[in-house]
Amino acid sequence: MDQICIKRLEVFARHGVLPEENVLGQKFLISAVLYCDTSVAGVSDALSDSINYAEVSEFIKKSTESHVFKLLERLAWHLAKGILLSYPQIQKVDLEIEKPWAPVLLPLETVSVKITRQWNKAYLSIGSNLGDKRENLLQAVRMLDEDCETRVVRQSSYIETEPVGYTKQDNFLNGALEIQTLRSAESLLDLIGEIEQALKRERSIHWGPRTIDLDIIFYNDEIIQTERLTIPHIQMAGRMFVLEPMCEIAPYVVHPVFGKTVLELKKDRERQGD
Ligand code: ATP
Ligand code: MG
Ligand code: MG
Repeated sequence: MDQICIKRLEVFARHGVLPEENVLGQKFLISAVLYCDTSVAGVSDALSDSINYAEVSEFIKKSTESHVFKLLERLAWHLAKGILLSYPQIQKVDLEIEKPWAPVLLPLETVSVKITRQWNKAYLSIGSNLGDKRENLLQAVRMLDEDCETRVVRQSSYIETEPVGYTKQDNFLNGALEIQTLRSAESLLDLIGEIEQALKRERSIHWGPRTIDLDIIFYNDEIIQTERLTIPHIQMAGRMFVLEPMCEIAPYVVHPVFGKTVLELKKDRERQGD
């Protein structure tokens, strides 16, 4: 992807762990690489089609001056998030903050923190079989979209499906969503948990009736295995109620473990039958 670079913008500010730093202030040098598509501006020659680096520099300066954080890590995330939320054309940002006068009491040139943050693309499956199912799904989508670090980009239609596993329960309404999020996969799981709780999800029977279930199917093309998370979702390839709506919005997205598209996984599942 194309890059617009700001190198070592000098800002005087008061970030630091020591109280003296918060009073006296010191010099910070901030560098940013802004990843965006410049092809339209390359043809039109219009600034409105690109990122105005003077404006971004001013934004960085003002944001850095108007807060006092202890850690460079905190300032870096604050700036990266501010840039990604304020400039929708920027997909990803590398940010380095140098602190050449850091009170280290040793002869070093500078210390710095460097981070990369981006809009992550994730796919979620969503289902309900209790109460007003459609309203539950719509409400969950609204709540995802209301999270300031998350946008719902695309939605499948909702399909009615029969319950699997525990079958003595009402039919489900299922769908799939594409979202963009600044959240890590773990933090996205926290958001999902909050939404499930707000919609009164109760976990009495495993795979039992629920007002809402939100599962992370894919997170970028990452393979994640932690105590709380398995991504891609471990059951997705065997579940028609996931594959069918996913096929509507992401037929050619490739499963990073199986190396097959969602469409191929659905065809495999159809061949296997029930
Ligand atoms: P299933 O995961 O088989 O669809 P379920 O959705 O009914 O079952 P939940 O009670 O919603 O199960 O979730 C149980 C746990 O699964 C969650 O607490 C979460 O930590 C874990 N989990 C692991 N991987 C994922 C994922 N990709 N998406 C959502 N939850 C996950
Ligand atoms: Mg589930
Ligand atoms: Mg779940």
